[in-house]
Amino acid sequence: MKKITRRDMLAHSSRIAASVGIGLPLLSQVTGGGAPGTSHKIKVVVAGAHPDDPESGCGGTIALYSDLGHEVVVLYLTRGEAGIPNKSAQQAAAIRTSECQKACAILKARPIFAGQIDGNTELSRSRYDDFGKLLQAEHPDIVFTHWPIDTHRDHRAVSLLAYDAWAQSRKSFDLYYFEVDQGSQTQQFYPTNYVDIGQTESRKRAACFAHASQQPETGFYQLHDKMNHFRGMECGCDLAESFVRHCQNLGTSLPQR
Ligand SMILES: [Zn+2]
Repeated sequence: MKKITRRDMLAHSSRIAASVGIGLPLLSQVTGGGAPGTSHKIKVVVAGAHPDDPESGCGGTIALYSDLGHEVVVLYLTRGEAGIPNKSAQQAAAIRTSECQKACAILKARPIFAGQIDGNTELSRSRYDDFGKLLQAEHPDIVFTHWPIDTHRDHRAVSLLAYDAWAQSRKSFDLYYFEVDQGSQTQQFYPTNYVDIGQTESRKRAACFAHASQQPETGFYQLHDKMNHFRGMECGCDLAESFVRHCQNLGTSLPQR
């Protein structure tokens, strides 16, 4: 085994620092050189498997983008049909669609739905084509989706659908991955980028709490609260969300406040 020297440790630390620096880019990189309120706006799409995934994975970042005047679309692969005990798929979908609309209003984002069924998502040629068309119709500059190593099949499905759309479009947008329920769902996730969400965590929390059918206060938000603090410690702020950036991105960066 190679002995780790102090020099190795310092080199490793400087690489981490560089990565954090890249992860908290200047606002001008997000706006393409313009300032908030100018004509250069970007289109952000956040693709999640179920209602509450986009909000818990990157609700703070979504709020930052919308506050800066950029357009954010939240794309839900399903309507959470399997997510409420003792409710039919149709009843659960209606309740959870309403919760999505409330959450997106809080984040100033627009919800769209890809029409697959919670717990029964499919990957096929036609599903890839349909998802690609839906995504391309939005003309995104940047897309966030689930990290593909995840215990939930639906999370893996939307991750691959978004990746395929990116590849088929000849990498026409930048691709970033987010994490949900770190450890129990997302696994093997080593961030390349961080976003300080200290200013927007209260709206992220409110958007997650809009999903009342999922009992966020005793369930998933407890874990995400810990994740926000842990990622904040990693990058030197109080609260953060973290992402893995596809290395072949064109260069659209993440927001900073
Ligand atoms: Zn989910």
